[in-house]
Amino acid sequence: KRVGFAIVGLGHLALEEVLPAFAQSRFARPVALVSGDGNKAQSVAAQYGIAPKALYSYDDFDRIAHNKQVEVIYIILPNSMHAEFTERAAKAGKHVLCEKPMATSVAECERMIAACRTAKVRLMIAYRSQYEPIDRAIAKMAQSGQLGALREFIAGNSQRQGDVNQWRHRKALAGGGALPDIGLYCLNAARFLSGEEPTEVMARVWSPPGDARFTEVEAAVRFTMTFPSGFAATAVSSYDSHESRFFRLQGTDAWAGMNPAFAYEGLKMQSARLMDGHDTLIEPHFPAANQFARELDHMARCVRENRIPHTPGEEGLQDHRIMEAIYQSAREGRVVTIAPPPGPTRGP
Ligand code: NAD
Repeated sequence: KRVGFAIVGLGHLALEEVLPAFAQSRFARPVALVSGDGNKAQSVAAQYGIAPKALYSYDDFDRIAHNKQVEVIYIILPNSMHAEFTERAAKAGKHVLCEKPMATSVAECERMIAACRTAKVRLMIAYRSQYEPIDRAIAKMAQSGQLGALREFIAGNSQRQGDVNQWRHRKALAGGGALPDIGLYCLNAARFLSGEEPTEVMARVWSPPGDARFTEVEAAVRFTMTFPSGFAATAVSSYDSHESRFFRLQGTDAWAGMNPAFAYEGLKMQSARLMDGHDTLIEPHFPAANQFARELDHMARCVRENRIPHTPGEEGLQDHRIMEAIYQSAREGRVVTIAPPPGPTRGP
């Protein structure tokens, strides 16, 4: 039987990507909705065959504990609400799938992990790229030595973020600007592709002066993380550059990358190495895969098979530890060291 999911928050991501992706999932189905807008919830429920009695508001959300069909709560709210709803979901005895960024601080991530541990429920952070086939193929190439020794990772994830009234421009709701929203993809990719953890970071943040969109959060972040092996990752992420999403992972024997990277679809891989004495570029073709459906299915299988998710709370916590170091480096204008994570951050 498919695992029942409750969707919390009916914004862009929920309506345009996640709910449609259930049609391509094999193990998950939507069975409840949580929204601040009752009319919207009713019309979305009708569209997806969800029973009218399985609709909740943010206030009466805790009643969801009594809905046996709901096994997983998928939180797709502004970042500052992730911790509260994870704690309430855990109290209701439900497993949690939470959007990235996990929260707005390390302290919130630690509370979320503790709440799920106490309630003995699974916690997964929705790092969709880690369920995407090209990213996975490059991680495998890198970690099996096919690129040689890893040297540099170079990445960019930028887009124009125009609407000044969006919660993404309010520090209290978003936690930060480009860094936690889109720079996070570069940060997380450097870690999961290399399989290494950074120990130092140097960063700058920048915003166009006098721009009302950036009075509370940064427009752009530029950072370099260094890893114990000598590997280094440099990334730029901006809310005020034309859309640009790419990465390249360079080793002594070859490089592999994606352009575009990090997007929902249209991803492309490139790789180059010496063949018969010539530097040869290859562009392998991968069949299209819905990252959201793969992510839903992973969570559903972890619930059924009682397994730790590949991207558990600890993976989100580690990124928040690094993001706090990035902001500290930018504030203080110096290299900031990052202690290694206390244990593994990823499941199998
Ligand atoms: P959105 O603004 O489109 O939707 C947010 C939803 O939360 C809306 O339905 C809104 O009504 C509701 N909400 C409840 N309380 C609110 C409040 N106080 N202020 C504003 N909205 C409130 O945002 P989104 O783009 O769907 O993002 C939601 C979450 O999903 C964020 O954590 C974001 O980082 C994440 N996200 C992830 C991806 C991905 O690719 N994995 C892509 C986009 C967004």
